[in-house]
Amino acid sequence: MFIIECPWCGKRDQSEFSAHGEAHIQRPQDPSVLTDEQWGDYVFFRDNPKGLHFERWNHSHGCRRWFNIARNTASSEIYLSYKPGEKRPQVDIT
Ligand SMILES: [Zn+2]
Repeated sequence: MFIIECPWCGKRDQSEFSAHGEAHIQRPQDPSVLTDEQWGDYVFFRDNPKGLHFERWNHSHGCRRWFNIARNTASSEIYLSYKPGEKRPQVDIT
């Protein structure tokens, strides 16, 4: 168990949240010009790094709002959380 900070509600137990994969995925401007391979990459393939990862989370048993977190996938340490629409923050994990 670990603690996650919702940008609206503050620190809460992990059990109140659900993870929804990589953050900052941009929908293609014009999907009709993509090849099947490019569309497949957009729909199905995500980064899976060991270390810093930006993820979408939902406070599903709280305010139900979406937000992003910067998390270390190796240690599960959460560096920070921020509201959707905000730029990807610089995170120094050294
Ligand atoms: Zn919340």
